[in-house]
Parts: sequence; C-alpha cells; structure tokens
Amino acid sequence: MRDGGQNVDIKGAGQQVIDEMGLTEQILAKNTLEQGQKYLDRHGRVVAVFPKGSVGGLTADFEILRGDFAQVLFEATRDECEYRFDTFITGLDEKDDRITVTFKDGRVEDFDLVICAEGLNSSTRGMVLADQTRLLYFGAYMSFFNIPRRAEDDNWAHTVNGIGGTFITLRPGTTTETTVLMTFLRERSDVAADDPVARKALLLQALKGRGTVADRIIAALGSVEDFYFGPMSQVHASVWSKGRFVMIGDAAYSPTPFTGEGTALALVGAYVLAGEIKRNTDHAAAFHAYETLVRPYAEASQRKMNPRLIRLMHVKTSCGVGIAQVIQRVFASHIVQKLLRPSDATKEWRVEKDFNLPNYS
Ligand SMILES: Cc1cc2nc3c(=O)[nH]c(=O)nc-3n(C[C@H](O)[C@H](O)[C@H](O)COP(=O)(O)OP(=O)(O)OC[C@H]3O[C@@H](n4cnc5c(N)ncnc54)[C@H](O)[C@@H]3O)c2cc1C
Repeated sequence: MRDGGQNVDIKGAGQQVIDEMGLTEQILAKNTLEQGQKYLDRHGRVVAVFPKGSVGGLTADFEILRGDFAQVLFEATRDECEYRFDTFITGLDEKDDRITVTFKDGRVEDFDLVICAEGLNSSTRGMVLADQTRLLYFGAYMSFFNIPRRAEDDNWAHTVNGIGGTFITLRPGTTTETTVLMTFLRERSDVAADDPVARKALLLQALKGRGTVADRIIAALGSVEDFYFGPMSQVHASVWSKGRFVMIGDAAYSPTPFTGEGTALALVGAYVLAGEIKRNTDHAAAFHAYETLVRPYAEASQRKMNPRLIRLMHVKTSCGVGIAQVIQRVFASHIVQKLLRPSDATKEWRVEKDFNLPNYS
C-alpha cells in the first residue's frame, strides 16, 4: 500500500462525503492539529500570520497526512472490497457485455466496468484515452517528503519564499516528523521519473543559499527515503469515459496539489459515480450523468490555478521576495482579513454551492 505523502486537505463537499461514509470521527482523530500558516523571511523571522480559517491561508478544517487518510479509507472498505497490491493492468479488451483485464502477473479476468483512480500519472488512462488527455505543465516541480521533527517545531505551517523561484513550506506531521512541501520553477518538465540522483541534485540546487529553513532541509536530505517528486501539472481530459472504462480523481481532473482541492474532488467524483451507477441501469447513462454533474466543479477548481499565478508565487529576485513579503503582511492584516472574510450568510451559500451533493439513498 502506498501510504506515503504529506498533508492533504479535505474541503467543502469532500467533508460531506466523509460524513456520509460515517468517517468524520476517524479523520478528526488523525487531524495534524495545524493551527495556521506563518510566512517567514530567509532568517526564519515571522513576516505574516494566517491563523486557521483566514482568507488565503493554507490550513483547512480537515488536515490529515495522506497515508493516514488512505489507511482510514482502507480499513472502512477492506471487508467489502477485494484489494490486490503489487499489481497493475497491462491490457484491456472490451466486449459487448464485459471488459477483459490482463494484470501484470498474467492473470486475465472479466469485469463489468473498469474505474481508473490511478492519480496524475495513470498508465491505464494512456491505454484508453491517450488522445483525449493532456497534461498541462505549470512550469514548476513539486516535492513532498519528511524530515526529523525538532523540539522548536510547533503546530504551525511555516512558509518561505526563496530567491530563484523556490517556495518551501514545513508543516506539522507526526510526533517525530515534520513534513516538507517544496516547489521550484523549471522551464521544462524533463526530469526522468525514475532518476533519484537527478531529483536530489535538482532539490539541492533549488535549496542552496535560500536561508535557514532551506539549510535545515539540505542537512536532512541525505537520509530522506520516501519522497514524492514530479512536475506540477493539471490533467485535462476532453472525456472521462469510453465504453466500460471511466476515470475519477487526479487521473481525470487533477487540479495540482497547490489548490489543496484534489482530495475533495476525488471524493466527490467517487461519490457521484457510485450514485449514478446505482441509479442507472445502463453504464453509459451513468458515466454521462457523472461527468455532467462533476465536470463544472472540477473545472472551476482547475481555473483557480494557472502557470501565471505559479510564476507570481515563485518570485525570482530578492526584490521580488521583498514585494511578496509586503503583500503577505497586507493580506494578513486584520483590516484586510475583515474586508475579505465572507459573512455567515455567504459562508453557508459557499459550502452549499461549492457542490450540491445529490442524494442517492
Ligand atoms: C505517493 C503520493 C503522495 C502524495 N502526496 C501528496 C501531498 O503530500 N499533498 C497533496 O496535496 N497531494 C498529494 N498527493 C496527491 C493527492 O493524494 C491527490 O491529489 C488526491 O488525493 C486525489 O486522489 P486520487 O486517488 O485521485 O490519486 P492519488 O492519491 O494519486 O492515488 C492514486 C493511487 O493509484 C496508485 N496507482 C498509480 N498507478 C497505478 C496503476 N497503474 N495501477 C494500480 N495503481 C496505481 C498509486 O500508487 C496511488 O495509490 C500524493 C499522491 C501520491 C500518489
């Protein structure tokens, strides 16, 4: 089981799906207890503070480590679903009434439907919908990993803008580990996915001379084992299904982890697809209804992030860092937060309009 990964947010309608599944308590029990986000300068001094719930802040109500979340979902479903680890699909052959799947170990089996939830770099997607899918590269790489927690680490996320277009955030992880989310500009997405030496070299290059937080990461990098590294890209698919094959989550509509909305989108997509399969006798009608309902929601999330915004967030010069810090201070100020904060009435509207979950019961 791939239980790696760092902090993920479960937002809006995603929280409602968790509630419907009866898993809210389990999720809350694993909450990382992050209190908010502080922006720091290169010497580690606080520039701006965004407590949990602030407009523009990072911290959501449901903050959980990706691995803990995967474990909660696994425990809740393991008695009713058959899980097979260490295998993947190598071939698909659709007939009128079934789809024949070949697995890595040579096993061949028939299924009614294939639901592809393989994430951003799905390989099965490439077998069926390669021509209909494109990855939109945002001009930056992302890396997530853990470093040893220090006594001075508190329950706040700490973010630093480094010159050269590096954006680093340290977040509370476990009692022994602090999580690192790091992104840096790179014109081309050209690093081989399976070249750990090239990846670490790029990370070092992006971290060198970027201040105290970066120095701490460099010191710990040698012993980092589980690290996620890849281009920051969105998945745009002109259709989400073909025949008996359908995609959900990042495989179909990844908005990039930078939006903090990929997990909610994946949960909502899974909920609606399940509901529509239950409601419709015909799988084509179910897939059509699922895409019609979820696509506007997924695309709205994708529109929140674009390559220009990423370039703006990853300032390159020390002058740019200075301007970014002024903006962070102004944005975090009491008066601006008060102006931007939605009223209680708008808040209710937002949660509801975020996505209106159909009732399938
Ligand atoms: C290792 C990892 C770490 C991550 N860390 C973070 C993070 O720190 N912060 C963040 O915001 N987002 C992170 N993400 C992305 C985040 O989990 C997703 O955006 C979100 O949860 C949507 O979930 P998903 O199920 O669609 O895709 P994912 O969470 O990517 O899950 C896809 C799953 O499919 C498996 N898989 C892939 N290819 C195949 C295949 N061919 N056959 C069988 N299985 C396959 C993967 O191993 C993975 O378990 C991470 C994803 C991964 C895989």
